Amino acid sequence: MEPITVIGGGLAGCEAAARIAAAGLPCRLLEMKPHRFSPAHQSEQLAELVCSNSFKSESLTNAHGLLKAEMKLLGSLVLAMAEETRVPAGSALAVDRERFADHMTHAVEQLPGVEIVREEAASIPAAGIVIVATGPLTSAALAQAVRELCHREALSFYDAIAPIVTAESIDQSIAFRASRYDQGGGDYLNCPMTREEYERFYQALLAGRKVPLREFEAPNYFEGCLPIEVMAERGPETLAFGPMKPVGLTDPRTGQRPYAVVQLRQDDLAGTLYSLVGFQTRLAYPEQERIFRMIPGLAHAEFVRLGSVHRNTFIHSPSLLHPDLSLRSDPRLFFAGQITGVEGYLESAAAGIIAGINAGRRALGREPLVLPATTLIGALVRYVTTQREGPFSPMAANFGILDPLAGPGPKHQRKPKLVERSLAHLRSLI
Ligand SMILES: Cc1cc2nc3c(=O)[nH]c(=O)nc-3n(C[C@H](O)[C@H](O)[C@H](O)COP(=O)(O)OP(=O)(O)OC[C@H]3O[C@@H](n4cnc5c(N)ncnc54)[C@H](O)[C@@H]3O)c2cc1C
Repeated sequence: MEPITVIGGGLAGCEAAARIAAAGLPCRLLEMKPHRFSPAHQSEQLAELVCSNSFKSESLTNAHGLLKAEMKLLGSLVLAMAEETRVPAGSALAVDRERFADHMTHAVEQLPGVEIVREEAASIPAAGIVIVATGPLTSAALAQAVRELCHREALSFYDAIAPIVTAESIDQSIAFRASRYDQGGGDYLNCPMTREEYERFYQALLAGRKVPLREFEAPNYFEGCLPIEVMAERGPETLAFGPMKPVGLTDPRTGQRPYAVVQLRQDDLAGTLYSLVGFQTRLAYPEQERIFRMIPGLAHAEFVRLGSVHRNTFIHSPSLLHPDLSLRSDPRLFFAGQITGVEGYLESAAAGIIAGINAGRRALGREPLVLPATTLIGALVRYVTTQREGPFSPMAANFGILDPLAGPGPKHQRKPKLVERSLAHLRSLI
């Protein structure tokens, strides 16, 4: 049988190769290192962790804990090797990054039927089943090939992400539902500000600590998605005339037009998540929580994703991918890892597991595995492959993307119930 080609020996590519081997199928894993390195990769080994050595929390009260539990049920190689190379890190799973990459490389070398080929894929093979798992720093030649395969606008090289909060944490006695000039119904939640509130907020934005740029991250922002603090630096009224303009909006509590407004747009079909429109930012994470909770209506906001601006190659999966992670226009091609629009080490690895399983199933003529959105992996895949209004930006694991529980219940029981439901569903499917 023709081997399945996996391009990219990172976290996603290694997981995909392991699933293909587990299905008893041959696999050809192409990795461009050591002939070519991305600006962030340095080691010759597979599955290199380019930044933090942490896979985040193991606690089941945390979405990353649930993600790990699900990945273990699916046979994750990354988690098995992380276990072998872990270092003390409290409730988090952290690893000795060099030992981790050594163990991963060795484990992939030992996988039956997997051939590791150290070369750059400059194009996508014209035949056979292929998984593209080349990550956020995909080589230029392959990025060009992906761009031609999709369509021009469907590949992003920069990620300008605005924070997302849960709907239930927005104080809707303050935030009011309306669209500007009453066009399009009450699609937005609007957080109104007085002049004093705006000025305090503006000063906090200017003073807030920002994440420094990396060497390979030139700050060539598009005018359409400037970080909020960069806009603030242009003058005290830039925001009030830009993303926070109050025109066409009347606060029903006062009957007046507010001085400024922060608009929140529904971010998922279920209406459980809302993103802060125009609030892409490089503010440090704790600063974002502190400063954005100054916005009236968001004092108790639960952030499921914080803003960031960084280099990231990812495709517009909502319009391009099937829920099994294959390309709609050419289903022999699968995408996996960060390039699909999931965000984070384990999220990328999890997408690798799903793409690997489904590439194997495709080769064997079997139905694909599409996990329900009651599981975190299913919810992540659904998030990135579902058509939506507004811009698409990457998503990390969080409880907010899961299907909500049926019926009301005490808040403190919500997460344990979501976890129990997820693991029960997953166990019943595998
Ligand atoms: C600078 C940076 C820091 C990050 N820090 C973190 C962090 O601290 N925590 C976190 O959770 N997430 C972080 N991420 C996000 C993301 O989780 C990681 O990038 C993760 O490694 C993505 O996994 P992946 O398998 O999709 O890609 P990668 O792990 O990057 O693997 C892709 C592999 O493909 C290879 N490759 C690329 N192009 C080709 C080609 N044409 N032919 C053959 N091989 C190719 C690369 O050499 C690489 O080995 C970071 C991302 C970046 C860019």
